Amino acid sequence: MPPLTAALRRAYRLMRARFGHQAWWPGETPFEVCVGAILTQNTNWSNVERAIANLKAADVLEPTKLFALPEARLAELIRPAGYFNVKARRLRNFLRVLVTGCGGRLDRLFAGDTAAVRARLLAINGIGPETADSLLLYAGGQASFVIDAYTKRIFERHGWSREKRKVGKRKAEKAGPFSYDALKALCEAALNHRRGAARLDYWQDYHAQLVMVGKHFCRPRAPQCGDCPLRPLLPGMPVGAANIRGK
Ligand code: SF4
Repeated sequence: MPPLTAALRRAYRLMRARFGHQAWWPGETPFEVCVGAILTQNTNWSNVERAIANLKAADVLEPTKLFALPEARLAELIRPAGYFNVKARRLRNFLRVLVTGCGGRLDRLFAGDTAAVRARLLAINGIGPETADSLLLYAGGQASFVIDAYTKRIFERHGWSREKRKVGKRKAEKAGPFSYDALKALCEAALNHRRGAARLDYWQDYHAQLVMVGKHFCRPRAPQCGDCPLRPLLPGMPVGAANIRGK
């Protein structure tokens, strides 16, 4: 097994042993998960929860009802999530496809090959790769690995996101992290040893575990390597840990 594959699989075992299964994503229904995935762009989850609580209180957290709301009213209800005018427009772009193209049925929206459904979602104005993959993975029942800022930071610090290329007889490290799609492909290739529902759960929980590490240990400044479950996987342990802490 390639060393990177072994490291990524071990990373999950270490995180899972520390945090337990995360049972993500918060949301009572797949539609609520979709709304949350769009509202969570550039804000924290507690703000999303307040916006969703407003939608529930107004009894509009359902595709047809939500799409029937005037955009200004929708923006008012989701105000706690921040960037509410932009998010109201994005939400309506998503709802237009869901309601007018799929009769309001998520099973129709998510029907088909993962790559084709992903392309359909990415064609919606305001849905980027991270949101599309979150929708697929947590609402659509489609195994599509999510990459976010936490993933990028953890992978970068562990040297998992640097492309190796051959220079003459030696392998040299190419500077710079992978793109979103390259990092996603790397994870999906390394973590492909489970099938069907087991893979879906694995990838859902893997991303959730990385979020736990990113929130609690791998902060932008002063990462808490000493207490982090991924410390054994730092490059050049124990020297690597000391180096990062000293930055
Ligand atoms: S806090 Fe340190 S050990 Fe943990 S993921 Fe970040 S760099 Fe790795």
